[in-house]
Amino acid sequence: MSRILIVEDEEKIARFVELELAHEGYDAEKAADGRTGLEMAESGRFDLVILDIMLPGLSGIEVLRRLRKNDSPAVADTPVILLTARDSVTDKVSGLDMGANDYVTKPFQIEELLARIRVILRQRRPAEPEESSDELQCCGVVLNPQSREVTYNGSPIELTNREFILLKTLMENRNVAMSREKLLCEAWGYDYFGETNIIDVYVRYIRHKTADDVIKTIRGVGYMISD
Ligand code: CA
Repeated sequence: MSRILIVEDEEKIARFVELELAHEGYDAEKAADGRTGLEMAESGRFDLVILDIMLPGLSGIEVLRRLRKNDSPAVADTPVILLTARDSVTDKVSGLDMGANDYVTKPFQIEELLARIRVILRQRRPAEPEESSDELQCCGVVLNPQSREVTYNGSPIELTNREFILLKTLMENRNVAMSREKLLCEAWGYDYFGETNIIDVYVRYIRHKTADDVIKTIRGVGYMISD
């Protein structure tokens, strides 16, 4: 049973999410402020944390920042879904920069939150045995889908989970121009309700870790990796 921590000071929302999670078969616990939430998350008992940004004490962003710096990699890598205010693009971008796995904008439909939880927990499972172990190679990048090792011109590069999946999707579709919508859907399994510019952010991160011409911009379409 997956254990999920809800860090949210609005008792009504926290209680509602807790009940829905329990109904879906998750083991849910709550924290009502940032400091308690961080302590509980640092215990390493949770498979996923739902983290509100606006919290008394430590903000959600600060909780996330400290969690990601935890000495134990298992704790530092705990998946986090942020709850953000509707129009705060700054919160979304700084949250993703800080290593949030996803975010949900308030007010949210519980189905949307549950869908995102399922996607993240599914991605965390070990690779399915039928998944190809063949390395993908293009433009100096070698990507091993199973070991998740990536090199560029022979040197290892560190990618976040999200960057890895995006790069893998582009390499699997080599020589195919991929729209941002298609990348969102194929790479992460859902859409951001029109916020396809998130893809631009991650393409920029990958280019920064490799080279500008590894992922080509296809004007009016999106992106492509090609020989
Ligand atoms: Ca709040």
